[in-house]
Amino acid sequence: MATTLNQPKVGIVSLGCPKALVDSERIITRLRAEGYQIAPDYKGADLVLVNTCGFLDSARAESLDAIGEAINENGKVIVTGCLGAEASVITDRHPGVLAVTGPHQYEQVMDAVHTHLPAPDHPFVSLVPESGVRLTPRHYAYLKISEGCNNRCSFCIIPSLRGDLASRRIDAVLREAEQLTRAGVKEILVISQDTSAYGLDVKYAPYKWRDKERQTRFKDLCEGLGELQRESGAWVRLHYVYPYPHVDDVMPMMADGRILPYLDIPFQHSSPNVLKAMRRPANIDRTAERIAKWRSEVPDLVLRSSFIVGFPGETEEDFEHLLSWMQETRIERAGCFKYENVTGAASAALPGHVPEEVKEERWHRFMAVQSKIADARAQAMVGQTIDVIIDEVDEDGAVGRSKADAPEIDGSVFIDDTTLKPGDIVKAKVHAGEQVDLWAEVVL
Ligand code: SF4
Repeated sequence: MATTLNQPKVGIVSLGCPKALVDSERIITRLRAEGYQIAPDYKGADLVLVNTCGFLDSARAESLDAIGEAINENGKVIVTGCLGAEASVITDRHPGVLAVTGPHQYEQVMDAVHTHLPAPDHPFVSLVPESGVRLTPRHYAYLKISEGCNNRCSFCIIPSLRGDLASRRIDAVLREAEQLTRAGVKEILVISQDTSAYGLDVKYAPYKWRDKERQTRFKDLCEGLGELQRESGAWVRLHYVYPYPHVDDVMPMMADGRILPYLDIPFQHSSPNVLKAMRRPANIDRTAERIAKWRSEVPDLVLRSSFIVGFPGETEEDFEHLLSWMQETRIERAGCFKYENVTGAASAALPGHVPEEVKEERWHRFMAVQSKIADARAQAMVGQTIDVIIDEVDEDGAVGRSKADAPEIDGSVFIDDTTLKPGDIVKAKVHAGEQVDLWAEVVL
């Protein structure tokens, strides 16, 4: 993009999860539309915007450090994002910040920017690409379908930071997805706090998209995205889905290729006692059965999940329940966290906090089970021909992902070929596998 001397420049520091990244992208799109330029470093910026994360205490500390660094390096700092919901935490530590706004308060962020760095007279509106400005590589994009959450898990403060579930209209979501595929995006990653609850807050309000009435609900959303997959070939990946019965509706769409055979379900645990203390939304009793049914309908289905070990009150028996549940359900992709108190979360007050060394020991045992499951799958993939989306290419070859791998969190597929380009989707035969990673060569 051409630079003019009087174009004000804003630097962005984006911390936290993919949802925060989407917020940053929206803010950048607005800034670019108003004629601001995005500065790549502190020194070149007239002002720095820090989009913070406030989930775990470690993320809060990281956010506060990032604000301090931006103040030292630049001096003019506006803070937004999850930690911004607790303005005094920020201003007590960094009284020099110019303004603090909370998560997804786009108008307030823009007001603060206007106050401290006025917009140029002639906005370069035409310079904003049709798909908006994205921070992810051009070939994949996150599609945020709702904000907030109606659940009240005892270890989580997201509802108090981001409020109750607020679903976007289905026509607006599908229009955004359509623009993304038109702009060349090859993979759409659906995100929210609770994707399967989509539309509950708006009583599944119907809106027209492409001359057909669609309800603001999970199934209609998947059908709409499936239409876009059919036209453009773009992959559609679902994140943060809870195993409610209506998730069954998406299985035929996975079986016929409209939606990727991948579900990211944050189970967190399997033991009924721990789940109760966690106040988790889904009833785990039938979940192993439901997973088995899904796998019979969609044989190449891959499940990704996250788990917490060492939750207050977790006994050795509870933990062993989790290990055998993992073996039964064979969750192929799993992240495991040692329980950590989050300031403001109800779980901090629960009895039976688990000693750190026990958490550590359980974490290693969990990872040993998980790594066996992942490795067995990798071995089983050897000899198979799979679709791979290419993320990066350099002089050593190409790095991509299979349908079983979301960006950043899952595995990679390494291909010894320097002629491929990011965004290519190719067929490749797997010749080696280890843990979540595969090595393959392109087949014609
Ligand atoms: S479902 Fe639970 S963990 Fe997830 S955002 Fe809602 S309250 Fe937090």
